Amino acid sequence: MTALPPDADRRALTDLAGLEAAGLLPAGSGLEDVAAAFRIRLSPAMRAAIAAPDDPVARQFVPSAAERIVGPDDLADPIGDAAHEVAPGLTRRYPDRAILAVTKACEVYCRFCFRRETVGAAGPLPEAGLAEALAWLARSPEVREVILTGGDPMSLSPRRLGEVLRRLAAIPHIEVLRLHTRVPVVAPERIDAAMLAALDLPCAVWVVVHTNHVAELAPAALEALSRLNRAGVPLLAQTVLLRGVNDSADALEALFRALLRARVKPYYLHHCDRARGAGHFRTTIAEGRAIMAELRRRLSGAALPTYVLDIPGGFGKVPVGPAYIAPGPEGWTVTDPQGRRHAYADPDPAPDACPGAGPAPRPGPDPDASPGPGPGPGREADCPPARPLP
Ligand code: SF4
Repeated sequence: MTALPPDADRRALTDLAGLEAAGLLPAGSGLEDVAAAFRIRLSPAMRAAIAAPDDPVARQFVPSAAERIVGPDDLADPIGDAAHEVAPGLTRRYPDRAILAVTKACEVYCRFCFRRETVGAAGPLPEAGLAEALAWLARSPEVREVILTGGDPMSLSPRRLGEVLRRLAAIPHIEVLRLHTRVPVVAPERIDAAMLAALDLPCAVWVVVHTNHVAELAPAALEALSRLNRAGVPLLAQTVLLRGVNDSADALEALFRALLRARVKPYYLHHCDRARGAGHFRTTIAEGRAIMAELRRRLSGAALPTYVLDIPGGFGKVPVGPAYIAPGPEGWTVTDPQGRRHAYADPDPAPDACPGAGPAPRPGPDPDASPGPGPGPGREADCPPARPLP
């Protein structure tokens, strides 16, 4: 652990001087221009989780000279929040859901954040804007799910957050409210009885916890997750793939296993967005796919998130692999987690030809000629199983 001054563990660090005094930056770091461009905030919990000034937790929150490098592909608004805004704080990219940025504030400011240009610039969404956003939702019955983001929605007081949630839940066609937050991990003390009461609503409330490294999951964070669990709040996790933080199968395996033990389902592994000055955190997609392929060899499906890319400009989020299936000579070629290839055929367009047995019989190579996995439950042997390719 870094040397901490008395009672320092109870204060967030919000400037270079504080980081330098805590030994997280060298004295006279000379990063004033970086600090002026992108806000600093390191919560007490994350400060305590840092074991060394350049470790995977510190790298997420402590500014560095690398942030001065702005690549030609870097964007001020990588996922097009502004382009898809339909009301103050309200962004819609998909037909059935909308994103409501209820505050710009967070308990930490992450050096790779795709909203790093705006986080911390203001507090809660003003009432006039919130009312306009709620009115837009009320007259948009196709929207069934609202994702609360920010900033971090759980940085609001429980009273304020509870009021926003209740107003959303009162819109008849809103079925699901989802909060995307780092708070249970970076400020676990905020998950108290009042916060749990704010989440207790007649409609479904899901919490998606952002966490990137197992070192963040200190006992207090695990206890906060447990409190949410015991309150019946379903929990997912999202993680950003970050060079120098978690860009290895070992690092992510440890994180995803810890999350599963904490009853949190790893949901998304995000490819790092093209935020301005955050290029040093970005891996290639090929590197991300190789890590995911290795994780599939090691982990159960329950522990595996989907590796996704937010298409720059706000065109949506898509899975980016790795790919296990491709067109092949018999329809498809499927690659298993060990890298062996298998032929797979779709059913002929005659669903009644093999009643109750899934794919219809089809002409093709003799299934006895190769040791495929064999017929599954309810499937007769004359329906050919998948076959390993030579
Ligand atoms: S919005 Fe999330 S990722 Fe961005 S600074 Fe806040 S806590 Fe970090």
